[in-house]
Amino acid sequence: MRPPSVDSLANSLKPSGLPHQLRVEAARRAIANNDHENAAAYASEIYDELLRPVINGTGVIIHTNLGRAPLNLESALDHAFRYSNLEFNLATGKRGSRGERAGSLISRYIGAEAAIVVNNGAAAIFLVLATLAFDRNVVISRGELVEIGGGFRIPDVLESAGARLVEVGTTNKTRLSDYEDAAKISNPALILKVHGSNYKMIGFTETVSVKSLKTLGLPVIFDIGSGLLDESAPWMGWPRPSWLKGEPGAKQTLESGADLVTFSGDKLLGGPQAGVIAGAKQFVEACARHPLYRALRPGNLTLQAMEDTLLAYLDDRADQLPLWRMAKTTPQELKTRAESLDLGRVVQLKSTVGGGSLPGQEIDSYGIALSGDKTSELRKLKIPIIARMEGSDTVIDLRTVDAEDDSYLGSVIRALI
Ligand SMILES: *Cc1c(COP(=O)(O)O)cnc(C)c1O
Repeated sequence: MRPPSVDSLANSLKPSGLPHQLRVEAARRAIANNDHENAAAYASEIYDELLRPVINGTGVIIHTNLGRAPLNLESALDHAFRYSNLEFNLATGKRGSRGERAGSLISRYIGAEAAIVVNNGAAAIFLVLATLAFDRNVVISRGELVEIGGGFRIPDVLESAGARLVEVGTTNKTRLSDYEDAAKISNPALILKVHGSNYKMIGFTETVSVKSLKTLGLPVIFDIGSGLLDESAPWMGWPRPSWLKGEPGAKQTLESGADLVTFSGDKLLGGPQAGVIAGAKQFVEACARHPLYRALRPGNLTLQAMEDTLLAYLDDRADQLPLWRMAKTTPQELKTRAESLDLGRVVQLKSTVGGGSLPGQEIDSYGIALSGDKTSELRKLKIPIIARMEGSDTVIDLRTVDAEDDSYLGSVIRALI
């Protein structure tokens, strides 16, 4: 039998949802491999390379590989299709500044003099160092020279921003006198503190607080990473969950005297991928004037999503941000959902926050267990479900699954087993 023409095979692939040109590519690949019967599989291979929604059944709330914090983006998307006052001042009719709005909302919430938003946390710390410490010394504890993930290493960032590293103390213990001695001889531009994030030291350790560091009379910058705006997390209700303990808040960091705090928008802030520089007006403004700022500033989609997120905080609705809603769901609610799904076995699980925050902290959760390894079949679904293995079971943690997806989950898994 003659193989079908590329065109007719491409046409038969319409249900794949791919645009014409990509269907042609799938058809060509199938024909070249003498495998036109399986053309649909070639199409789904291409489809899988596109960015698409998945269901996060891992129980890792801020999942680095799954887009970190989920967002409720309706308003941001809505606005992105229209013109906006992105760089227009409605009061004066003149040109305005795009970073101002989200920055001023952050400032209000955490009590900063000023704040700006950039593309991500890495950009925030990079811009601060390039602005304030180019060709100058930066004092940092040896215990804080960490790699956060994805190759983001503090010593490398410092170097690429043109700053010179002055390491003090030891891996486990750094004292105020260590900073003091280094400051005396190196004339540093600033002292940098970096939150260990996904790395934790326990036992015989000592670090120096921002408050003590401020006694040395140098600018103190704290890269807290996670973006927890307020350590007391009022949106989580009382008592504050124990798993949040030890995570530094942007508000408290500034209150304790830091000149600048930098953090991510999509970790414990629960917003879009972004980075924030907040604190003393003179330093924030210097960062905004640096030529690099233009290269690092986000687009209107991000800024709109950031604004929406911050309005939720200012309106005491932060508990409704997907991140906190998931974190706050009680194990009992999850157990009830798991039972009503009526699939496999209902099992008790441990969720984690993820995203380089709160290592070792677990949140009680519930989900379902299926016998054997079903992870790859679940990944092949129309809306892929990302599950994890526990022993010889495939488990789906419901904490990170939107309750609205339960019925989809139920029907596809029932078909699978
Ligand atoms: C995550 C993190 C960063 C990088 O933030 P991104 O938004 O991932 O670029 C920087 N510093 C610390 C301490 C972090 O935890």
